[in-house]
Amino acid sequence: MSDIPKPILDALLQGKPIDGRNSWVRKVMKEAEEKERQKKEEDQKRLENFQIKRLEEESEDYQKLITDQKNTIEYIDFDCNGKYCDGKTARVILRPDTRHYAEIRCNLCDRHIKWSPYPNSNEECEFK
Ligand SMILES: [Zn+2]
Repeated sequence: MSDIPKPILDALLQGKPIDGRNSWVRKVMKEAEEKERQKKEEDQKRLENFQIKRLEEESEDYQKLITDQKNTIEYIDFDCNGKYCDGKTARVILRPDTRHYAEIRCNLCDRHIKWSPYPNSNEECEFK
């Protein structure tokens, strides 16, 4: 506060109006406006980054959906019995991206139900 010019400080202390044409007042106001502008710019950038990230995530989800759709080999009757789901069908989705042959997912709630072993495999599925 010590850098406030005496005429301005006096005006402040006496509750008088401050001369907006004073160079110090203009400098302080310009700095405040610049600070505000930078803050708005940073907020805008943060918002854009958030939106970009969200769009990337949506795109990944969409790509996964398309891949699952392409890899769906069969629709089967299945009672989901989920906590909030009474789905009666499921789909068998090939999963070459895992060490499992396929995955069974509920058609209604998309819940993973179980892994499906390779055909002709005598092994019981170890992951359920
Ligand atoms: Zn379900």
